[in-house]
Amino acid sequence: MITGIQIMQKLPKTNCGECGFPTCLAFAMKVAAGQIEIDKCPYLDPKIKEEIAEATSPPVKSVILGNKQYTYKLGGETVLFRHEKKFENPPLIGTFVHTAMEKQEIERKIKAYKNYKWERVDKILFPDVLMIEDKGNEEKFLYLLEKIISELPEIAIILNSENINALEKALQIDNDFRPLIYGVNYQNYRDFWELTTKKEVPLGIKANSLGELAKISESLLKLGAKELVLDSGALSVRELFEDLVIIRRVAIKKRFKPFGFPIITFMYRYTDSLALETLLASICIAKYAGIILLSDLKAEYLFPLLVERMNIYTDPQKPLVVEEGIYPINGPDENSPVIVTCNFALTYFIVSGEVEGSRVPTWVLVKDTDGLSVLTAWAAGKFGADNIAEFVKRCGIEEKVKHRELMIPGYVAGIKGELEEELPNWKIIVGPREASGLPPVLKEWSKKLKHNLD
Ligand code: SF4
Repeated sequence: MITGIQIMQKLPKTNCGECGFPTCLAFAMKVAAGQIEIDKCPYLDPKIKEEIAEATSPPVKSVILGNKQYTYKLGGETVLFRHEKKFENPPLIGTFVHTAMEKQEIERKIKAYKNYKWERVDKILFPDVLMIEDKGNEEKFLYLLEKIISELPEIAIILNSENINALEKALQIDNDFRPLIYGVNYQNYRDFWELTTKKEVPLGIKANSLGELAKISESLLKLGAKELVLDSGALSVRELFEDLVIIRRVAIKKRFKPFGFPIITFMYRYTDSLALETLLASICIAKYAGIILLSDLKAEYLFPLLVERMNIYTDPQKPLVVEEGIYPINGPDENSPVIVTCNFALTYFIVSGEVEGSRVPTWVLVKDTDGLSVLTAWAAGKFGADNIAEFVKRCGIEEKVKHRELMIPGYVAGIKGELEEELPNWKIIVGPREASGLPPVLKEWSKKLKHNLD
């Protein structure tokens, strides 16, 4: 990788500030860290600009799919292991329809895309890619594409066909969509390349071996291709995993350009069982797939994969947190219960979900614990009696409620006495250990609070 100092040596060194940074050195450091594009300096020779852009771009290049409203970025990866930095762009997960498929089956799959949406930690999880395969029926291929674009505008589309005419017509259906064109092989790659000169879209290579994949990719790079997706054609599970690791490893460690692109994988190539496909997919999420296609979408298999994907593609050095503060849920007033919890996002969303479900107006105090969960934060000294008391006094809850009753999580019941000493005006109530126990407790408590204060 090129360093900030090496980049600085290629800059004009006038410190004019037009790039938005006070000095060329400050700008060079940001470029080297991948936080800003080299294009922001208007005084660079195009050749040097290209040289720096190439040297600072990630070894696994990015590929963009989707449309103006829903854009999906694949690749852009810089590391082999998640603990080294983080994995950047999560793999797309979905299934396929094809032109020989029964109408009911197609409708059932489209319905699955519409139905399978889950909210978790403030994010919506859903299957986000669908492949349309042409089994030799151009008319139906184009009809299916129009149908998918209008019914599922939020997902990325893969067009799997070797019929260049059909693909040319498909690309004219909607100016605003950017599909992956999959099916490029050593015989047809020039025709596919011609096609992308009319509309710039990524190409998916369908090879029979790693060697052939390298050859096709290299040929396309020579023609000027910038966005490719790779399929080595692995036929066994062992080959698949070997290829996934080899492609990523040589892209990152050797900077081997033909393999520096996202990888597409087809779980149904290796088994007839959706459960086994799910198992394979779970490994492919962690081991470098850019697109994962299953034979079908079933909630019980899909949901765990989407959760795993979300977890793997978070930054391991930054816990998911919510901001410290007072969160009013269900419209609380001066007589409503007050509970305190930590700011680990998962804890907050589970607690707030239970409070919301209880319909009891409640004040939830979220204390900054650096994203640690209740017990870990307590053990680290970030959720003890002294700092909870300090937070309660400072956060402003005393102006919002007339009563002085505060519920702490059951897991830290041991701090009750100490907290009562720190907050002598407050009565401390020990809540349930699990958030699922909150609704009945809140209902009962809120009745008592109203009764006492009336
Ligand atoms: Fe230096 Fe270019 Fe930025 Fe001016 S615009 S400060 S020359 S990097």
